[in-house]
Amino acid sequence: MILYNSLGQTKQEFVPHTPGKVNMYTCGPTVYHYAHIGNLRTYIMEDVLEKYLRFAGFDVNRVMNITDVGHLSSDADTGEDKMLKGAKREHKTVMEIAQFYTDAFFADCEKLNIKRPDVVEPATNCIDEFIDMVSVLLEKGYAYLAGGNVYFDTSKLSTYYVFGNMNEDDLAVGVRDSVEEDENKRNKTDFVLWFTKSKFEDQELKWESPWGLGYPGWHIECSCISKKHNGEYLDIHCGGIDNAFPHHTNEIAQSEAYLGHPWCKYWFHVLHLNDARGKMSKSKGDFLTVSLLESKGYDPVAYRFFCLQSHYRKPLTFSYESLDNCVKAYNKLRKRTAALGKDGDIEQDKADALLAKFKEAMDNDLNTSLGVTVIYDVLKADANDATKRYVLGELDKVLSLNLLEEQDAAPQAANPQDAEVEALIAQRTEARKNKDWATADAIRDKLAAMKVVVVDTKDGISWHYAE
Ligand code: AMP
Ligand code: ZN
Repeated sequence: MILYNSLGQTKQEFVPHTPGKVNMYTCGPTVYHYAHIGNLRTYIMEDVLEKYLRFAGFDVNRVMNITDVGHLSSDADTGEDKMLKGAKREHKTVMEIAQFYTDAFFADCEKLNIKRPDVVEPATNCIDEFIDMVSVLLEKGYAYLAGGNVYFDTSKLSTYYVFGNMNEDDLAVGVRDSVEEDENKRNKTDFVLWFTKSKFEDQELKWESPWGLGYPGWHIECSCISKKHNGEYLDIHCGGIDNAFPHHTNEIAQSEAYLGHPWCKYWFHVLHLNDARGKMSKSKGDFLTVSLLESKGYDPVAYRFFCLQSHYRKPLTFSYESLDNCVKAYNKLRKRTAALGKDGDIEQDKADALLAKFKEAMDNDLNTSLGVTVIYDVLKADANDATKRYVLGELDKVLSLNLLEEQDAAPQAANPQDAEVEALIAQRTEARKNKDWATADAIRDKLAAMKVVVVDTKDGISWHYAE
């Protein structure tokens, strides 16, 4: 398989450290708010990568952290702790917030057919490991104490900017977010490994350490959690492109300083989901979630289809108009795939040729949009339904688009409830036109109770029954 590697910035043959075995790591969510559909674009593409590696025959161990401590508002270790911000907003404790949004994250993942990683580890479970790694970095002379905090000394490295391709905005992260620079740092790029003195003295979660009562920096958690569950050699590390600097750059600095050898071979970065205002981000407050899409009648898997239609290394712009187009295409596609018969023997040669086409697309830097077109090739192929069904089943192990799931479309036509549904939808449209939101909402709830999903498209309203 050929993959683009941010380390080296070239497409490279994917060759794991141990033949046949892949140690994979994913930066997990910071659980102070719902994940937005931009975060979930990254997790969808990582899910496809993981499933494709398994499809290609690798034995994958995928590890994900949950950031429930240490991620400050600015990636440059300043500002308020994000978790504390969430707790204050909702008048709850940090751990209550962490539990609630971790559950919400995995509920969203399930709706998007994103598999749960083999290992999921909250940062607050690993305090001893963090303290151990920071102690070794101090012993080896890669870290120093200043103003009560422990810092990583980036001047000790021969190369710090390992990804090389950072633009000015990325490099300006230290002065972003209108927070002043930390005077304790010897070098501008140094970063905090352990805090005991933050400007935010009301930090809720603190632990004893050799350097005083405090809490870990954000970057150290991924290095430690990866080492704990994937050992000293990581094959592939994933995340959104905003994580490349400073987060992943710092992970590499401290992991390699600690281990004394190269750590992770391949770095997989997913480009951002943007909306009309630019990058979708939690800090902007007003962002799109899976629940919001559902409340508007969208099947979350249609959003997955939307993401698969574009390459992970290209920015993707979200608009309801383009999502609506995807919904139409997706519904049509599923009607055709689910209607395939089951009889007959699989024609293995024909199946293999179609599977080879899929492999060819995905082997070329995970070209999912080309991979999706193979579904159409399968439908058009000169092969019996059993063969098509078999191939689509294989493809769906990676794409996870519910291609073969029974459709409600056929029974829908004969359902005596349909007329009532149509009437309710007409009433809802009328109520919305009159800005009578209370009535519109009441009808929406009634339709939801009848398991009806209403989709607003630019050509009007369409609806179907939820599974
Ligand atoms: P966070 O919960 O903020 O730590 O982010 C979780 C993941 O989502 C990280 O891998 C981020 O790089 C990624 N991410 C953040 N914003 C976006 C976006 N607009 N589009 C795609 N991925 C994003
Ligand atoms: Zn991370």
